[in-house]
Amino acid sequence: MRQKLVVGNWKMHGSTAQVRRLIEGVATGSAGLAKVEIAVGPTLLHMGLAAELCASEAAGHLKLAAQNLFAEPAGAFTGEVSAPMLAEYGVNYVIVGHSERREIFAETDQVVAAKFKATQASGLIPILCVGESLAQREAGTSAEVVLAQLNAVIETAGIEALRSAVLAYEPIWAIGTGKTASKEQAQEIHRVLREHIAKSDTAVAQGIRILYGGSVNAANATELFSQADIDGGLVGGASLKVEEFVSICKSAD
Ligand code: PEP
Repeated sequence: MRQKLVVGNWKMHGSTAQVRRLIEGVATGSAGLAKVEIAVGPTLLHMGLAAELCASEAAGHLKLAAQNLFAEPAGAFTGEVSAPMLAEYGVNYVIVGHSERREIFAETDQVVAAKFKATQASGLIPILCVGESLAQREAGTSAEVVLAQLNAVIETAGIEALRSAVLAYEPIWAIGTGKTASKEQAQEIHRVLREHIAKSDTAVAQGIRILYGGSVNAANATELFSQADIDGGLVGGASLKVEEFVSICKSAD
């Protein structure tokens, strides 16, 4: 039985006051939830504050997710942050391959695979995002696109590496647009991803959590999370609203 996971991706949002409010609010609202695992993803600048808050008794059940890292452990890489640095702050998860990083920052499959490996090398868990554009969906190539993105990581890191990783299916056309994949559309791609992994290793396929991301909100979370191969959500916009995010977490509990 896979434990459901809900991760808030705060993107480039948040002041110190907002980080405090969000973490305290989510911690209080989710205090009674026994089954779902919850992670919050502040900016790297706010990670220290978030780590301090999540070390408190009240918020101790919240995990930390970083939105990005650089694949080298240290060195002359101005402006970058490494996996060992994140590990020192108690970060649990690192989002890699988010479509905004692929598109805006031109991250290739190779860069994503290097970040995936660097994350695991420091004992952290990568959340590998895959997803197709609207044009690719309309061309009927959704499955092909996500499998190519997944294969790029499998070829570099090996199928075994998926034992301590999370996948996130994030159709680009549904991110931040208010358009959500229907539960059938989402389930179909999640099934394709799991079946593809099963061809190499059935135990890995059964164990890996595959999150859905793309305009998840309080109104659609329950039906999405009730699909056989959807193991929780990667939540952007709705994770910046305490009540809405808590409600999404409750849907996964
Ligand atoms: C995301 O960026 O990971 C995301 C899913 O965003 P949103 O929920 O706002 O679509």
